[in-house]
Amino acid sequence: MKNNPILHTDTLILGAGLSGLSTAFHLEKAGKTDYLLVEKNDFFGGLCASEHIDGFTFDFSGHLLHLRDSYALRLVRQLLPGNLAKLKRKALVYFEDKLIPFPFQAHLWAVSSQVRQECLQGAAKAAQTPFKKPDNFRQWCLQSFGEGIYRHFMGPYNRKLWQTDPADMTWDWCGPFVPAPDTEQIQAGAVKPNPKPFGYNAHFYYPKQGGIGALANALAAQVPNTWLNAQVQRIDLRKKEALINGKIVRFQHLINTLPLKAFIQMCAHAPESVRQAALLLKHTSVHVLNIAINRPALDISWIYFPQKDTPYYRVGVQSAFAQSNAPQGCSSFYVETAEKITDFDAAKQAILKDLSQKGIIKEQDKILLSYWQTLPVAYAIYDKNRANATHKILGWLNKNGCICVGRYGLWEYSFMERSLLQGRQAAQKVL
Ligand SMILES: Cc1cc2nc3c(=O)[nH]c(=O)nc-3n(C[C@H](O)[C@H](O)[C@H](O)COP(=O)(O)OP(=O)(O)OC[C@H]3O[C@@H](n4cnc5c(N)ncnc54)[C@H](O)[C@@H]3O)c2cc1C
Repeated sequence: MKNNPILHTDTLILGAGLSGLSTAFHLEKAGKTDYLLVEKNDFFGGLCASEHIDGFTFDFSGHLLHLRDSYALRLVRQLLPGNLAKLKRKALVYFEDKLIPFPFQAHLWAVSSQVRQECLQGAAKAAQTPFKKPDNFRQWCLQSFGEGIYRHFMGPYNRKLWQTDPADMTWDWCGPFVPAPDTEQIQAGAVKPNPKPFGYNAHFYYPKQGGIGALANALAAQVPNTWLNAQVQRIDLRKKEALINGKIVRFQHLINTLPLKAFIQMCAHAPESVRQAALLLKHTSVHVLNIAINRPALDISWIYFPQKDTPYYRVGVQSAFAQSNAPQGCSSFYVETAEKITDFDAAKQAILKDLSQKGIIKEQDKILLSYWQTLPVAYAIYDKNRANATHKILGWLNKNGCICVGRYGLWEYSFMERSLLQGRQAAQKVL
């Protein structure tokens, strides 16, 4: 790093997604203004950003706020005064050529009698089997719901989402994310609609204007020391230096929110064992097809598609989250797939055809626009290597004075509320 111009800051924050923005915001709020927040994009927010095209607002796939922590809720309300709506989830599952309520396991009344019997028998058998600590996610599903529910929904849906066999995944992530009705609730839901809203996202919050990016922009407006279009190239934790756009930045404290796997490869002096651990980390990439049509929004939040031959796993109705997301009389969708795509045009045509066969897009609808977004690092995969590998990597980074936060900095399955809270914790550590 010889002969490069040198900049100095006390706290260098890598990445201006929600985690980095929250760290900077909380430092700023505490009066500690000697930080620098760097971001390779020319906009703030990372995944919590929105694109505005021809009167439509699209997020990077559905980004809804699940706020259970009172501080996080207060903070978001302060950041978005008069611009926050609380919405009720209206989620469905496409099953046996029709739409049934989500979660599948709590609404067996809506499936055919053959599937219902299979699922109920499986659930009853699972309930009679003495509990044993599951070895993997498949076993966790079998113990929690039984064979039928696993075979018809949990297995195929999760295989599509994670691009991994559930038997090759751990189950330590699923507590907050997978709705788990007990056997009585499964049985009750096989007779008539289950009134209880299961799961972490039964209600959610969303900005009335500006898409989810309004939240990141509101944070960014209170964080002056930022550097956009700034690519982090190399980090030297011994010298406390970073190489960013060819310039050296010297720091006292370092906060990382960049994906752990790539970040380690940027770190000079990372031991070989740590580099090897980083190579074990696996993730999915998600491709999102955004579509706008000339028909008013369906009153649906999103739909899950467990079918193996359907080339996407979820479709969300972006225009149902806020009226301002689409011009009057129009609606917009996002279609998510984690499958590898080599020909995006062909993939788009296949998806549009399938949506039309399933009646989600109608023959008379005019497609006003459609385009792809790619999220190269979307879900950290909880396979058997993840826990040991992240332990080793984060242990080394911690020992060398680097604090990691966020879904990708910690290589975890988490959501925006956690980014806000982890940013606050990181700022507290610096203070
Ligand atoms: C498909 C999908 C759907 C989701 N839906 C929801 C939801 O409904 N609700 C919810 O709460 N959460 C959701 N999440 C999770 C949510 O997006 C994340 O938890 C949160 O946005 C993570 O913020 P972050 O700042 O940690 O990471 P990021 O947003 O990824 O920010 C990291 C930043 O680092 C920057 N960066 C990377 N490399 C470099 C470099 N070399 N130099 C400089 N900058 C760099 C990136 O450009 C990015 O801006 C979803 C995630 C995905 C993938």
